[in-house]
Amino acid sequence: MTNKEYDIIVVGAGPAGTMAARFAAEHGVSVLVLEKDRDVGYPVRCGEAISKAGVEEFIPSNDKFIASKIDKFSMISPDGTELIIPLEESGYILERRIFDYELAKTAVSAGAEIITRAYVNGLLFDNDAVAGVEVEYRGETHKIKSKIVIAADGVESRVGRWAGIKTHIDFRDMESCVQITAANIPVDQNTLYFYFGKDYAPEGYFWIFPKGGNTANIGLGISGNIGKKKSALSFLNEFMTNNYPNASILTQIAGGVPSTITLEKIAAPGIILVGDAARQVNPLSGGGIASGMIGGKIGGTIAGESIKMKNPNHLLSYETAWHKRLGKRHEIFNKLKEGIYKFDDNKFNEIAHAFLKVPYEKRSIGNLFKTALFNKPSLLIDVAKVFLIK
Ligand SMILES: Cc1cc2nc3c(=O)[nH]c(=O)nc-3n(C[C@H](O)[C@H](O)[C@H](O)COP(=O)(O)OP(=O)(O)OC[C@H]3O[C@@H](n4cnc5c(N)ncnc54)[C@H](O)[C@@H]3O)c2cc1C
Repeated sequence: MTNKEYDIIVVGAGPAGTMAARFAAEHGVSVLVLEKDRDVGYPVRCGEAISKAGVEEFIPSNDKFIASKIDKFSMISPDGTELIIPLEESGYILERRIFDYELAKTAVSAGAEIITRAYVNGLLFDNDAVAGVEVEYRGETHKIKSKIVIAADGVESRVGRWAGIKTHIDFRDMESCVQITAANIPVDQNTLYFYFGKDYAPEGYFWIFPKGGNTANIGLGISGNIGKKKSALSFLNEFMTNNYPNASILTQIAGGVPSTITLEKIAAPGIILVGDAARQVNPLSGGGIASGMIGGKIGGTIAGESIKMKNPNHLLSYETAWHKRLGKRHEIFNKLKEGIYKFDDNKFNEIAHAFLKVPYEKRSIGNLFKTALFNKPSLLIDVAKVFLIK
């Protein structure tokens, strides 16, 4: 590590960080990405589901990082009623270990440098503005100056806090997740399975996402409140014993998903937050890969522009740009999530029975929400905004 200075330092080489680096570097500015782990893309803490469009905004689809292609959802209610819903937009289960690595390569092609095993443990300041990082690398601490720092350090983010940004979220909004990748799971390889109800995942959902060759990611997320009473792992163990006693477990992971609206403040002098660090996850689905990449793209672009324009204040326009593209939509998703959290098992069963009457070719996620929320007019307007009126 040299005494070199950079225009932009990105902390974290997840999808949000590498996309921020790439779009910033495309402006011809110098960009350094610092990643604490040994490998980009590993360890994986993710169900790996994403829409095809979510991938293709950033990188052409490629079988080397696609484990399975998804064309329908199966929604299973507490009494076992199964609703199959064809998807208007197809999706993938990724091999994130390879996907994240491929994303990182695009950032390097754009001109960014990446260093792994580099642990950022503090920020540098110039007056009140962030002006670089302190990083531990090969047993030594280095100070590296930069005009802008992009915090892409994931759900456990600390960088934003060091800059004085309020990053705390309510315990209840931090979904507590656990997941295994298991073999000997004979499910349809083109279907995502979701289970609802108090025995599977109260205030959340349980998933089976196929990964090809009879393997699948199987897991659940429950609200922090529920997790205090019964752990996510207990729900998972019960499910596996009851449904797949002959499965072999290949990996097990646990982690948090910030299922809420974006932080109030995601930009300050010399710093912006992107991805999970900014709480840019879709609060309804818990998906943060695509939205994190979008946050990274917007943030990286504005950071690059800000350097080129020699206008540090331009960085602050990132907040408005994010809210225009996705932040406002996430506020609606969050309201829908809050509505669904309140459903009991009877309500889930009722919805499933009512929706079964909808002919297969007329089924869609938007219509399912319409059925679920038909007696909640205020939420129905929100459904219309996001699913029905495009
Ligand atoms: C169990 C589970 C299942 C999920 N399933 C899905 C799913 O199916 N689909 C979906 O879209 N999303 C899913 N998510 C969410 C998704 O994984 C995240 O939203 C996404 O990875 C966020 O990307 P990111 O780049 O913001 O953060 P991350 O991918 O977490 O990357 C942050 C990076 O920063 C590095 N870092 C942290 N601190 C430092 C430091 N001090 N110095 C240097 N480097 C640092 C980390 O090592 C890491 O590599 C799931 C999450 C969990 C926990």
